[in-house]
Amino acid sequence: MRRSEASNNETSLGEDRYVAGILFIFSAPSGSGKSTLVSELRKQVKDVDFSISWTTRPPRGSEENGREYHFTTKEEFERMVGEGQFLEHAQVFGNHYYGTARQSLDEARRVGHDLLLDIDVQGAAQVRSRMPEAVSIFVLPPTPKVLRTRLRNRMRAEGDVNEAELYRRLSEAAKEIENYREYSYILINDILDRAVAQLEAIVLAERYYRNAEPIAYRSSRVLEVAAGCRLSNSRERLKPVLEAFGIEGGNGQQQLPFGDDPDDD
Ligand code: ADP
Ligand code: 5GP
Repeated sequence: MRRSEASNNETSLGEDRYVAGILFIFSAPSGSGKSTLVSELRKQVKDVDFSISWTTRPPRGSEENGREYHFTTKEEFERMVGEGQFLEHAQVFGNHYYGTARQSLDEARRVGHDLLLDIDVQGAAQVRSRMPEAVSIFVLPPTPKVLRTRLRNRMRAEGDVNEAELYRRLSEAAKEIENYREYSYILINDILDRAVAQLEAIVLAERYYRNAEPIAYRSSRVLEVAAGCRLSNSRERLKPVLEAFGIEGGNGQQQLPFGDDPDDD
């Protein structure tokens, strides 16, 4: 995903209230298609900025410093933590730090745009507790097998299929999914076009409800689609996905095709 940031040299306002636009938090197990959805959304909807996170993990594939992430060292990251530069930060997949700089919020505020954070479940919990007005969206892959295929395909495309890393990310998936109840909206990324339309509807509906911003086309349909994605209306859609991941009475994660059968994708 190519994320963008408005440039700005102002210092942080140091406030955790997001005054100018809507703050969207976007979480998903790695490989669910979050970056793909965000990049498609940006083609359809104007004035949504994406916060470029800081991370201590090394760049993957064609990633560039300052585009997908600000890549940095552990020492530098810890110094930034000490200086209070992060709105939230977390250790993800064990040993790498990821964090959202407060500066990203300041920049979006300055230009009056909505801001989208692509962060893990730990970071999302931190942001929600500081900024309860944030809108949170959880993205799920339809099945564990689809998730494994997407992760492996992405690794292939990046030229580095690392089975240990693949297994680690898959093992984390069910644990992350257990947090779905904390989110305002649920997206199941099965058919890409449908998931993109749902995401777009959520953004437009929130703008309509919060800012009374008119919806240019088929407004009742947009509001209906967004309402259908609300957590409270997602029970039926969620059931088979949760069961497949061994959550809430499913078959159990140990029976899922994680990590084995590398050639059956
Ligand atoms: P994430 O950002 O959640 O880690 P990505 O957006 O990188 O995931 O997607 C992982 C892989 O799955 C990519 O190769 C992407 O092209 C593919 N993908 C994403 N969404 C879909 C979809 N709905 N159908 C098929 N493939 C998808
Ligand atoms: P990846 O290494 O695949 O880019 O990302 C791994 C995980 O880190 C994803 O779940 C992603 O959402 C999360 N992540 C990316 N940036 C941040 C951040 O700034 N803060 C937190 N808490 N998680 C992040």
